[in-house]
Amino acid sequence: MSTTTNQANLKAFSAVDLLSRYHTILLDAFGVITNTEGAIPGAIEFIDHLNASHTPYFILTNGASKLPKSMSAFFKKRGLNIPEQNIITSGSLLKSYFDHLDASEKYPLRALVIGTPESSEYAKLAGATIAPPQAPPEEIDAILICDEDDKNFIPTIDHALSTMIYRLEHNLPLKLVLSNPDTYYPRGENYYGITSGAIAAILESIIRERYHGLITNILPPSFVNLGKPQSMIFIEAFRRLGLDPMLASDKQKVVMVGDQLKTDILGANNFGIDSALVGTGVGKLDLSQELSRKLTPTHILPHGLKLSLNR
Ligand SMILES: [Mg+2]
Repeated sequence: MSTTTNQANLKAFSAVDLLSRYHTILLDAFGVITNTEGAIPGAIEFIDHLNASHTPYFILTNGASKLPKSMSAFFKKRGLNIPEQNIITSGSLLKSYFDHLDASEKYPLRALVIGTPESSEYAKLAGATIAPPQAPPEEIDAILICDEDDKNFIPTIDHALSTMIYRLEHNLPLKLVLSNPDTYYPRGENYYGITSGAIAAILESIIRERYHGLITNILPPSFVNLGKPQSMIFIEAFRRLGLDPMLASDKQKVVMVGDQLKTDILGANNFGIDSALVGTGVGKLDLSQELSRKLTPTHILPHGLKLSLNR
């Protein structure tokens, strides 16, 4: 069997088809319901419909810049009525990640956080203590990349890099955690912005370059990704829905709607639920490409979440 599928052969699906086929809808946020210019056409009506029909749904978003409460307020300003309980961010997975570490490497975890003040709140909620801006590398156990929006971006990333090099060369452990592996996102029509995955890529690439070709026992470290395409965020959604991630019949009830192949679609496919790619975000670039099976969505939604094409 061929391992590639031409996505153009996939039959177009509509938001109405989605609602009749699935019991539970998981939605990515940026590129699916909103972009930086406002709500994406059709998204307000779609969310209103989910609320009114009591359809179970969650927003699964790779991000740790805003707490669910702030995200809910941010959506509300755009006309999207999404209660905070319906929002799962990758930042909220930090606690589960820390809780599952070996007892020996757990607390106190002193973290250097790249991100917003609310990113630091996520780290504190997860049980970490926040390293002060000038903390020496001996006193930092973890680097958490939460968001590109850090008001001291350059000093903080320099501090993170210096800490990585120091601890590597002194054989000291260091947890590297990335709560949003996306490298970029759509900010508007034909306009994109970088995000925290790109920061991790910069740090990893500097470390690789520094030790490349040297006879050394240093293994270049890499960041652990908490968000999509990893399964942790889907497992959390299933936990909150009371569904069993090991049960095929539960998985068949759920679909993930996203705009990015490498996070939303790959994540859903790896986890074993159906996926739908909207043509309203980053994903539209990829609609005609030959794709590996893991990157092929179950459905394509050319009109995004629009319930009626006449409006
Ligand atoms: Mg997106």
